[in-house]
Amino acid sequence: MPLEEALERLLAMAAAAPISERERLPLAECDGRVLAQALISTLDLPPWPNSAMDGYALRLADWTGEPLVVSQRIFAGAAPEPLSPGTCARIFTGAPVPLGADCVEMQENAEVQADQRVVFTQALRVEQNIRPQGQETTVGEEVLPAGTRLGPIELGLAASLGCDQLEVVRRVRVAVLSTGDELIEPGLPLGPGQIYNSNRRLLCSWLARLGCEVIDAGILPDDLQQTRTRLAALDSVDLILSTGGVSVGEADFLGVALREEGELVLWKLAIKPGKPLTFGHFQGVPVIGLPGNPASTLVTFALLARPYLLRRQGVEAVQPLRFEVPVGFAWPKPGNRREYLRGRLEHGRAIIYRNQSSGVLRSAAWAEGLVEVLEGTTLKEGDRVNFIPLSEVLG
Ligand code: AMP
Ligand code: MG
Repeated sequence: MPLEEALERLLAMAAAAPISERERLPLAECDGRVLAQALISTLDLPPWPNSAMDGYALRLADWTGEPLVVSQRIFAGAAPEPLSPGTCARIFTGAPVPLGADCVEMQENAEVQADQRVVFTQALRVEQNIRPQGQETTVGEEVLPAGTRLGPIELGLAASLGCDQLEVVRRVRVAVLSTGDELIEPGLPLGPGQIYNSNRRLLCSWLARLGCEVIDAGILPDDLQQTRTRLAALDSVDLILSTGGVSVGEADFLGVALREEGELVLWKLAIKPGKPLTFGHFQGVPVIGLPGNPASTLVTFALLARPYLLRRQGVEAVQPLRFEVPVGFAWPKPGNRREYLRGRLEHGRAIIYRNQSSGVLRSAAWAEGLVEVLEGTTLKEGDRVNFIPLSEVLG
């Protein structure tokens, strides 16, 4: 199945099961959350015209070339008097422009004479160096639409409007399950045939960054009865996210359990790494089963599970930013699946990690992004590919 089609289907299923509960939280707790209700401005911003410079405020018509008396000093935070006709006001950046003034000249273009009167050395224009009332937003304007992911910038913007709380979508509850008899947790001695569980940590940390509530469901042994009981216990989550056990191997107990007590859709994705992907539900709880090889887990989570989780929270823009870069390597053999190579930019060209095996997570630690090589194509140095920065998908 082409990636686009799998994504489209997943997103449609996500949109059909939106997280509808919302909560009102103090701004300080909204980082990483999704706005449930559009942010409407209750203020003009700025609330009054203010000076963009340290200098002098005047009415342009009063400036004839004759020196002007300074009739008041206006600091940021002050409430000025209306400007006395025929005078100017000393003013500082961010201070309200007094009623009657229509121009600010910066102090570098002003000369204070011995008698403290001021002359201006450059031509003046009306409205210059004045930030007009409402230039950023006006009362009633939608500043952020519902479905916006909140980060430092959006929270700063909300604060600038005097907002101290926001209505956000409840966190998505995601249970993380690692399947495989070979898995053991770090900190324990490694027995014969065992490997440390890397996906659990990878996914739990990643989900936390995405604002999810993580239910760490530990390791699931390759055993049908245990698979059934453990899945059944996760009845209060919004998604069960598992890794491993989704190929058509003999130890594919997840698939059996879903088939028996829910629904199983098994996709052979036309991407590399990350071919086998399961979607379905267990007793009504949605399940996404990612492939177990860590680099496959990473790529399928980034390109499919992450957009799915964002869409369930009502986010429209779920696709990571990507841009074209020339490659600094050759790709002589066309593949039959689209490849997401772990790569970096060096002097503006994409280079790739020496070992692209799906089991090698180190490739991604070295990388700055995913280099997309389309199916059926060859590349020579300088040809262009899409580059998806990992920083785009990690948060
Ligand atoms: P599977 O899909 O269960 O056949 O697993 C594919 C490969 O990924 C096997 O080599 C597994 O040992 C490995 N693998 C599966 N789950 C994990 C995990 N949580 N951490 C590290 N490697 C894993
Ligand atoms: Mg397995």
